[in-house]
Amino acid sequence: MSSRRVACRCRRKQRPRSRHSEAASTASGIGKAGTPPKNRVSLLGDLADIGVLGLATMGANLARNAARKDFNVAVYNRHPGRTEELIREHGSEGRFFPATDIGAFTRSIVRPRPIIIMVKAGKPVDEVIEELLPHLDEGDIIIDGGNSLFTDSSRRFHALKDKGIRFVGMGISGGEEGALEGPSMMPGGEREAYARIEPIVTRMAAQVDGTPCCTFIGPEGAGHYVKMVHNGIEYADMQLIAEAYDLMKSLYGLEAEAIADIFAEWNKGELESYLIEITAAVLRKRDGTGKPLVDSIVDEAEQKGTGRWTAQSALDLGVPLTSITEAVFARALSGSRALRLDAAKALPQPAIPVRAPTQADIDAIRDALYASKIVAYAQGFEQLSAASAQFGWDLHLGDLATIWRGGCIIRARFLNRIREAYSGLDPVPHLLLQDVFREAVVAAEPNWRAVVARAISEGIPVPAFASSIAYFDGFRRGRGPANLLQGLRDYFGAHTYARLDRPGRFHTRWGQDGSEIEV
Ligand code: NDP
Repeated sequence: MSSRRVACRCRRKQRPRSRHSEAASTASGIGKAGTPPKNRVSLLGDLADIGVLGLATMGANLARNAARKDFNVAVYNRHPGRTEELIREHGSEGRFFPATDIGAFTRSIVRPRPIIIMVKAGKPVDEVIEELLPHLDEGDIIIDGGNSLFTDSSRRFHALKDKGIRFVGMGISGGEEGALEGPSMMPGGEREAYARIEPIVTRMAAQVDGTPCCTFIGPEGAGHYVKMVHNGIEYADMQLIAEAYDLMKSLYGLEAEAIADIFAEWNKGELESYLIEITAAVLRKRDGTGKPLVDSIVDEAEQKGTGRWTAQSALDLGVPLTSITEAVFARALSGSRALRLDAAKALPQPAIPVRAPTQADIDAIRDALYASKIVAYAQGFEQLSAASAQFGWDLHLGDLATIWRGGCIIRARFLNRIREAYSGLDPVPHLLLQDVFREAVVAAEPNWRAVVARAISEGIPVPAFASSIAYFDGFRRGRGPANLLQGLRDYFGAHTYARLDRPGRFHTRWGQDGSEIEV
């Protein structure tokens, strides 16, 4: 392993700084099916440090990222047009080894070969793996960097292990820009295989305070699981932002530009995050007519599935993931646009008394957003903790907060606080019990409650705000109404119940003499 690292460094040292102009690959090079250019100098011969298979938005940018960090990058795409485009447009950014067939692609990579697959999640990943296998040698490493379902990654991990191929399921967040400039990377699978690629991926990742936003997550599909929950949190974050926007627009009649100013202001405080920052940018954007673009965008949210998977996993684990799940449902309701338009005609509309806001009104929405966001993150981390226990993954929650501080979509100032919460010797069992978050939600509570109450009384839907405060109210309650649920379950199904005043399980003979028996 260490010799590989040395080899990579040596090769980089030998390169003249003018290498970018002596383009390793040219548009004509693509026609030579992976033939490495003759002017390349390498201790290991003319070989690539890493391969990237799948050169759509993410794959092409990841390949460019690696090349810009001085790694030799083999690139291959099923349809060669994408490879040609990458080399034509960006071939001068580093040393690329373009290939038009998969055999030439694999032959151009140093062994054990690390190959990042960046294709559409699902069946295409299995198809690509099947295609690759005849060209691989024992110990080679397949890294799936797409948004794969974690159970697929666990399956691939074990199936490939039986064939002597090492598998890393690596969640990558940051979108198009992150892939190029430095994403947050969540690799899981075989630890030794990760050690082999660590020098490469940690340089490709975003860096915060000198720490790469990339660390080994855990075995099997742990990397993709963590990426999935990251995306689930992203769903909640975005829904909460959309609800805050809706309140400012519907209650106070604010225009997009004015709301942009408010988000920009919020981005200077505890809400500082990438999503709040880009919310201001999106709201500020005007289209060709000079009107705010956002006012012309259809109100139908699409989804690729990671939020839904997060909610489904939460149901399987029995984790109350209300904020993220509401965000998934809100997107589903937004998707029923035709039905909503019919309903808007058929059902009476609330008459909202719109008035100009005071600073206190705006501050109240900010507090509701912040408190709801804390709940969403607390639930997401509770789910990660439950999954870790269920699957035996030994996830380090503080490390996850650390690698989410940069590169990814949910990067935010307050992830530092989450990192601190899990870094002590005695980590808190739940983020809402950690001093900084407990104090924040308690301070925000009056405004949070008032905002949700006002929204409900005016008929403005705030499903994520409302479910977050309902969770908070349930969470802090020593005794809820589930005693009655247990009584009902025992009545119709003899499911038994526990008693507060003595140990054991009990059943009441409801349909018989009404006596209670210990079971
Ligand atoms: P897409 O998800 O749009 O997938 C297109 C790529 O998949 C093309 O290279 C295509 O090849 C290839 N492909 C599809 N089917 C096959 C197949 N059967 N065999 C071989 N290749 C196939 O690309 P993106 O770059 O958007 O995303 C790549 C992965 O990264 C996905 O899993 C995505 O979910 C994930 N991701 C995407 C993010 C984003 O912001 N876009 C962010 C984070 C992760 P061809 O050109 O030949 O059709």
